[in-house]
Amino acid sequence: MFDIGVEQLMGRGVPGGRSKGVAGDREGILAGLKQGAYEKMTQERETQDGGVKPPLQGESAGESAASGRGTFYLETFGCQMNEHDSEKVAGVLLARGYRQVESVDEAGGVLYNTWSIREQAARKVFSRLGEFRPDLVRAREEERSLQGLKPDITCDRMSDLKVRPPKDERTQESPSLAGGEESGAGARSQVPVGDSHRDPSTRDARSGRAPSSAGRIIGVLGCVAQQEGERIFTRAPWVSLVCGSASYRKLPQMIAELEAGNRRVTGLETDTDETFETEVTRRDNPWRAYLTIIEGCDKACSYCVVPFTRGPERSRRSASILEEVRKLADAGYTEVQLLGQTVNSYADPSARKMRFSDLLVAVAEVRGIRRVRFTTSHPRDFGKDIVEAIEAVPGICEHVHLPVQSGSTKVLRAMARTYTRDEYLEKIAMMRAAKREISITSDIIVGFPGEREKDFEETLSLLDAAQYDGAFSFKYSPRPNTPALKMEDEIPEEEKSRRLAILMERQREIQRAHNERLVGKTFEVMVEGKSRREQQWSGHTSSNKVMNFTSREEESLGDYVQVRVVSTTPNSLVGEVVG
Ligand code: SF4
Repeated sequence: MFDIGVEQLMGRGVPGGRSKGVAGDREGILAGLKQGAYEKMTQERETQDGGVKPPLQGESAGESAASGRGTFYLETFGCQMNEHDSEKVAGVLLARGYRQVESVDEAGGVLYNTWSIREQAARKVFSRLGEFRPDLVRAREEERSLQGLKPDITCDRMSDLKVRPPKDERTQESPSLAGGEESGAGARSQVPVGDSHRDPSTRDARSGRAPSSAGRIIGVLGCVAQQEGERIFTRAPWVSLVCGSASYRKLPQMIAELEAGNRRVTGLETDTDETFETEVTRRDNPWRAYLTIIEGCDKACSYCVVPFTRGPERSRRSASILEEVRKLADAGYTEVQLLGQTVNSYADPSARKMRFSDLLVAVAEVRGIRRVRFTTSHPRDFGKDIVEAIEAVPGICEHVHLPVQSGSTKVLRAMARTYTRDEYLEKIAMMRAAKREISITSDIIVGFPGEREKDFEETLSLLDAAQYDGAFSFKYSPRPNTPALKMEDEIPEEEKSRRLAILMERQREIQRAHNERLVGKTFEVMVEGKSRREQQWSGHTSSNKVMNFTSREEESLGDYVQVRVVSTTPNSLVGEVVG
């Protein structure tokens, strides 16, 4: 039986079963997001169904290798928005002839696409960068030398740096959803990189540059890049490229500048639309395509870094979205997930002025598209028209992620969430009354400044009232550049941990009861993963539940099958193929 869901492999985690993630037999499932995993999946698919393989968008690694350009290693931290941003980065670089490699050792450029919604993730980025610290590299070399081993790097090349693979990151702290509406709370940034990086002796003696710049490009992309900006160069002088999400289109030009001898380059604009449409996106998943329809956020929740790191809200023109969806369908994608920090705040900038709910319907009507998902929704902008669209169009998945963050109106006010507990529960009631059963998930922060025991109790009672199908829960800790940073964070860590444990246990029980009610029911599942164990597969229902199932047939990844639920866990369903 599977003990991990594809959800985790998709960089998210299991609702209700985290924040720590769930350890498990990850190797048992072949599906994943990295290029190698994708290739594995598609090769497998070819052998199974005679070679029908949806093409990657963008130039293949083989083609790019032929062009003789450099190689890059790209590691992604964080949410679906970041995963999709990395697809854009890879697409842009592959299209320019660069080749993506699977390890730092092989790479001429090392790029970290970062995420700073929570402090731990931001800290890990600097920890990764710290592994490139020249004195550490030298110490490793000396140790090798003392052991009589052949030095396999020089400080200039740094080619033996060991960077843990991204999947470890996902298991440790897989974030929930699209980066914005989830708990944008972390703690003050720590700087694990020591002072020794300022030691002039760590610099390349010939060029005066940080040694790494003589051998390879080290780049920081995404949220931490945007948040820390040029301060990264002070913390980690061997970094040569700092680039926010709105500037990915310019990456080849920035890399060319470095190759031409420039020591450092930055791209830190936040208010452009360029983030939507790189000329080419190299998508990792051959069946489910992520599509950003709105970037940035204007909501200004007091704990959240997103308005600072991703800038103001900008929506993509509906015609451009639909054109891309048609291309995706032609390329073999059957599922599209529309992304935005507050996806339902979408405001079509074209004269057409399509509402978000109309856009959902239009995407679902594109020939070849079988499922449309969307995440993350903001309660303020979640209206009846979205529920009506879900009711009317089977292709729109019956799942809504609607973060509440707290069950206390007092705390919601301090968070600047723009709705009360009662207003939020009205949205839940609206969904529960829908003709189709809608699966609802949420994000919750415990220990926000000023949260008294009574407030926490209100959050627990909201869980009972909302009956979520899943919830991602986090302890609050302050983040840089947020208004909440100025609030006194007076709740001790142990108390936050206590509340988090109680909340997770309560939610786990709700999910257990929810899932048990599904035994005997049959759901359509997209086949997304195959276990090494015989006849074991996994995928998602339209309601976004993880289904691990048995089939006597050799299923094809990407196909849809009917699966009857035979047993459940709080985080997943267990079933068998019928028919
Ligand atoms: S709605 Fe609030 S939590 Fe969500 S991205 Fe915007 S500011 Fe952050």
